[in-house]
Formats: sequence, structure tokens, C-alpha cells
Amino acid sequence: MVIIVTGGAGFLGSHLCDKLVELDHQVICIDNLLTGSLNNIVHLQQSPNFQFIQADASEGLPQDLDFDQIYHLASPASPNKDNPKSYQALPFDTMQVNTFGTWSLCEEALARGAKFLFASTSEVYGDPLEHPQKETYQGNVSTLGPRSVYDEAKRFGETVTSAFVRYNNLDGKIIRIFNTYGPRMAPDGRVVIEFVTAALQNKPFPVFGDGKQTRSFCFVSDLIDGLTLAMEKGVKGEVYNLGNPQEFTILELAEKIKQLTNTSSEISLVGSLPKDDPMRRCPDIQKAREMLGWEPKVSLEEGLKKLIVYLQTK
Ligand code: NAD
Ligand code: UDP
Repeated sequence: MVIIVTGGAGFLGSHLCDKLVELDHQVICIDNLLTGSLNNIVHLQQSPNFQFIQADASEGLPQDLDFDQIYHLASPASPNKDNPKSYQALPFDTMQVNTFGTWSLCEEALARGAKFLFASTSEVYGDPLEHPQKETYQGNVSTLGPRSVYDEAKRFGETVTSAFVRYNNLDGKIIRIFNTYGPRMAPDGRVVIEFVTAALQNKPFPVFGDGKQTRSFCFVSDLIDGLTLAMEKGVKGEVYNLGNPQEFTILELAEKIKQLTNTSSEISLVGSLPKDDPMRRCPDIQKAREMLGWEPKVSLEEGLKKLIVYLQTK
């Protein structure tokens, strides 16, 4: 099959391209390198099954292409406002690619009878009042807060995808990705990469707030398996949570990284929790378990060890 991956030079996108090339598909990676890097795909460039096109996915496809599937992953993804690659630093790019981009790509998929998958996020639940979050939960999201350029753009991307399914019969699916980590993650301010990098340099772990907020962390290989299963086995118009349901406080994450790296880094409480930073987040993955036959296999400890080795040998 010919498969388009937007955001294919990013962290998740490049691992997805790896898997699809391994499965012998023809992969076309479309990326404008806004937050991604050619280093993530340099090893694929020799493959006759891989093509890279540098282009902005907000405008749809850059040329007339024939294809069977699109995975739409292009978007900045880090919330950290102090990092130049975060969605708070790139608000208009973030809104455009998740709204206009999703719209154009749905049209392109429809015109070719191709399947479409939209990479949404747990951020559509905002600071959730229901725990763990099921796909039926409609969220607690600010339309005006600093995270809204991402959260609301992803929510509208979901609406666009579901409208193309409902009114035009597009074969489209939506995936809500919960915090995922692993090799090739850019140092873009997200907590796992910040803490592991700090640990390897014996620098303090910068903890925002009191560190009692929770997240659940999924290793990248598990997430990629979930994406391909959703594309193949997912039901048209459905939305699936993909993430690891084991929940940790940010302090527990720091302690685990401290123990695994044997670092002298200390935990440092560096200020209040950023505005609208969710206090709890954990996916209910029953739907993905039942409908896709998917669940994560890699524990936090195992995944962190892999990331640590990668960063030490890079
Ligand atoms: P990333 O920043 O590593 O990758 C995103 C890629 O998209 C980058 O290569 C970037 O250059 C590219 N891109 C951005 N805007 C573009 C545009 N207009 N045109 C073409 N390419 C563009 O981030 P990631 O963690 O790999 O995230 C990938 C997707 O998964 C994003 O849509 C993100 O919202 C979603 N997601 C990720 C996580 C996570 O924990 N990693 C969680 C929830 C959702
Ligand atoms: N966080 C932190 N220190 C950092 C980066 C993040 O304490 O250097 C916290 C952040 O406030 C949030 C959690 O870790 O509560 C996860 O943040 P991340 O940026 O990974 O993404 P989010 O899950 O908020 O989208």
C-alpha cells in the first residue's frame, strides 16, 4: 500500500514510518520540519520504499499523490511555554495544521477512497473531572486559556474528521494519544525527556507545582502498534484512547528516573503549576482492548531504561 504520514519526521511519526516501511509499504512522509528533524528519518532515506517531501500539511498535500491511507500526525505537541518548539510558542501553526490541515487531508482521502487517521490527544479532556477518562467523557477545556490553541484545535480536528465520516462516508478514525515517550523525542520541554536529560547531566529535576499531579506514560513502540491496529481494525467514525493506564505522580516519575540513572540530581520545585495544567490524567483503554485487541506491553521502568540507553549512546 501507499501510505502518507504527515509529521513523519517527528518523534512518533518517524517510528510509524519505520514500522510501515518494515511492513513493506510505500511510505510518503510529509513534514515541514517545524518541530521535527531530518535526523529522525535519515536512516530511511536509502530505502526505495520511503519518500520525504518537505511541505506544510496545513495546506493539504503538496502535489497530486495517489495513496491508500493517511496518518495525520503533523502538529507541535509540547505544552511547555518556555520552549520555542512548543505549541504555546507556535500557536497559529498549531491551530492551522489541526483544523485547515485536517479538513484538506480529509478531502484528499475522500477523493481517493483512502483511509484517514487523525492523531488527537488526551488534551481534549482538558483538566478532567472524570477519572480515568473514557472516550465518552466530553472534557473540561478552556476555550481561552494558554493551552486552548492546541486543545481546541484538536477538538475541532476531531469534529472535522467525524463530519467527513457522518456526511461523506469517509473511512476516518480518531486516536486520542496520552503522554508517550521514547527515543527521538526532542528536548521540547515535555516531562520525561526533561527529567532524563537532567538526570544524565546531574542537574536538578525541575518540578512544576507540588509534583502531585499525575500522568500515565506509554512507550513509543506500544503506541505505534496501537496506531496501526486502529488504522487496520478500527471502526469508521470511532475514537480510541491509546495510552498506558498505569498512573504516576510527577514526583514518582522523578524518583524512578533518579533510581534508574543513579544520578545525584535532586528534585527542585520550581514554581506554581502552569495555568490549566491538568491535575490528573489516565486513560481508560477498555475500548481499544476490546475493539483493537491492543494494550501496552512495556512498563515505565523498561521504557525508561531504553530511553536512558538511547540518550547515553547517541
Ligand atoms: P513532534 O513534534 O516530534 O512531531 C510532530 C511533527 O509534525 C514534526 O516533525 C513537525 O515538524 C511536524 N509538523 C508540525 N507542523 C507541521 C505542518 N504544518 N506541516 C508538516 N509537518 C508539520 O511531536 P510528536 O510527539 O511526535 O507528536 C505527533 C502527533 O501526536 C501530534 O499530532 C501530537 O499532537 C500527537 N500527540 C502526541 C503525544 C505524545 O505524547 N507524544 C500526545 C498526544 C498527542
Ligand atoms: N512538568 C514538570 N517539569 C517539566 C515539564 C513538565 O513538572 O520540566 C509537569 C507539567 O507541569 C505537567 C506534567 O509534568 O504537570 C506533564 O507535562 P508535559 O509537558 O510532559 O505534558 P502534558 O501532560 O502536560 O501535556
